[in-house]
Amino acid sequence: MPSMSDFDYDYFVIGAGSGGVRSSRIAASLGARVAICEDNRLGGTCVNVGCVPKKLLVYGSSYGPDMEDAAGFGWTIGERTFSWADLIAAKDKEIARLNTVYGRILRTAGVTVHEGRGVLIDKNTVDVAGTRYTAEHILITTGGRPWVPPIPGADLGITSDEVFDLPEQPKRAVIIGSGYIGVEFAGIFNSIGSETTMIYRSALPLRSFDEDVRSCLSEEMEKRGVHLLRDTRIECLERRADGAIDVVLGDQEVVTADMVLFATGRVPNTAGMGLEEAGVELGERGGIEADSFYATSVPGIWALGDVIDQVQLTPVALAEGMVLARRLFGGVRGRVQYEVLPTAVFSQPNVGTVGLTERDARARGSVRIYKSHFRPMKHTISGRDERTFMKIIVDDVSDVVLGVHMVGPDAGEIIQGFAVAMTCGATKAQFDATIGIHPTAAEELVTMRTPEPDPM
Ligand code: NDP
Repeated sequence: MPSMSDFDYDYFVIGAGSGGVRSSRIAASLGARVAICEDNRLGGTCVNVGCVPKKLLVYGSSYGPDMEDAAGFGWTIGERTFSWADLIAAKDKEIARLNTVYGRILRTAGVTVHEGRGVLIDKNTVDVAGTRYTAEHILITTGGRPWVPPIPGADLGITSDEVFDLPEQPKRAVIIGSGYIGVEFAGIFNSIGSETTMIYRSALPLRSFDEDVRSCLSEEMEKRGVHLLRDTRIECLERRADGAIDVVLGDQEVVTADMVLFATGRVPNTAGMGLEEAGVELGERGGIEADSFYATSVPGIWALGDVIDQVQLTPVALAEGMVLARRLFGGVRGRVQYEVLPTAVFSQPNVGTVGLTERDARARGSVRIYKSHFRPMKHTISGRDERTFMKIIVDDVSDVVLGVHMVGPDAGEIIQGFAVAMTCGATKAQFDATIGIHPTAAEELVTMRTPEPDPM
């Protein structure tokens, strides 16, 4: 058994996305000799084809409805035009800047960056573009990629990997799936004026979210003009003579589109990396089996982030990467706090949520539910028919707040602070004792006093 110094590195990270970059930087700051390899642009899904460009497109698109709202406040806006090409070019410039920043951050931290695909040779060896490196610990953070259902003609559609580089704005956009990516892109295309249809197999979008949130969002999306085809199965996609795409539904109805975006989930990136050969166990969907300390079935090989197929969220990968690096190189036995998990969906309007849904909370015991559904102050004058929804779920015995949910402008920004309160174990009485900030929407979350009647 070679000693630690016989290895080229103490820590070799395969995949420079959110989790890998954070873990390698923390490890290097703790004195470890660290390398990272990447065969694509630095920053992974989040920076290149995920969170960051998506949020930029959400900002870009929301000027459309904002300009409509301005009329009620006295503005007359002249002829409006929108250039998809300009928005994409601006987005590309910002992402290129971030790629450079990521390279600099890694170098400054003392992490060696190897360009190329990492393939596991054995439990201490990684091959990158024909050169072999040894390390005492190897971390796999190769993330995931979009998954497309095997229906005839599926290759006529695109995924979130391609949508950010779409050469032209589609006049008619069809989105298949109603998860995070589906509702976010339905909002983007609708707000820039594409005729947008979201087709999904369930009754409501955003499975696993609170039912009230799901129905409220679907109502608001419909009011904004997104066509929702719920409970709908897709038979196939067909190319028309004029170049457009026919989406043939289960009942043989046809929706014609210029672009079809599959937003039907993501699968872990684990193929062709020598994982199985090295003895790393994979789960049913191809994700790496990792325990609560991110150890795989092979000692010394670790995995976290999307590739372990648990929670596919950047901040979770960051937290996991940090905990592991501190544990391996700092002797700190921390754990990621998965119980109070805040998340936002950048749909239009936004969804923000933290903690349990009503259904999950009821399954655990007796609860009190507080709800508020109101017209935001801005829309009293803008005239937009949009309502904000808020909901608090409280443990009836301990008074501890179990869940806070919101559909409305800035929900993600608002819920972050409530996630801090819930991480501290806040009770409803403590919410009630908090002074509101007036006039805001968020103050409603500290002024809800009357619980819903108990459904018998
Ligand atoms: P999701 O898992 O959120 O949603 C997948 C959607 O595809 C669901 O509507 C699902 O339907 C549908 N679907 C799955 N299989 C089929 C099928 N065979 N036929 C028809 N429909 C199908 O995946 P996304 O691709 O939207 O996003 C992937 C993940 O990325 C998210 O879960 C999230 O973790 C992360 N993400 C986070 C964001 C954020 O934090 N704001 C933004 C974007 C992504 P059903 O509901 O019926 O199961």
